[in-house]
Amino acid sequence: MIKQINHVAILVEDLDASLSFWRDALGIPVGKTEVNPGENVNIAFLPLGDSEIELLEPISADSALGKFLAKRGQGMHHICVEVDDIDATMQRLAEHGVQMINDAPKSREDGTRYAFVHPKSTSGVLVELYELPKA
Ligand code: ZN
Repeated sequence: MIKQINHVAILVEDLDASLSFWRDALGIPVGKTEVNPGENVNIAFLPLGDSEIELLEPISADSALGKFLAKRGQGMHHICVEVDDIDATMQRLAEHGVQMINDAPKSREDGTRYAFVHPKSTSGVLVELYELPKA
């Protein structure tokens, strides 16, 4: 079952410059910020209803996100769809011939399981699937 949009991730060159729009002008308070050393990225999380805007600022130019930024510039990076059962969702996508980036779900430290769908199969948008840990 598809639940909701969990977050929309936007790749930015400069977090502070980006926050001058999202936080200061538009008025969405920042929930938290975090440095993700594994991905070499600074992240600002801006909760919006049951969803979130995530601003991603690559720290190093040779990280995956840094290269993406250099090649494609700032803008929409991915949209994350929250599902009940990521295994069942991936099975369903496979049956529809959808191309995945991750063949199996990966896990975050908090237990969230995720996988990315290739933009070739989604009209050009990188789509992330999320299964949150069961409470
Ligand atoms: Zn994401």
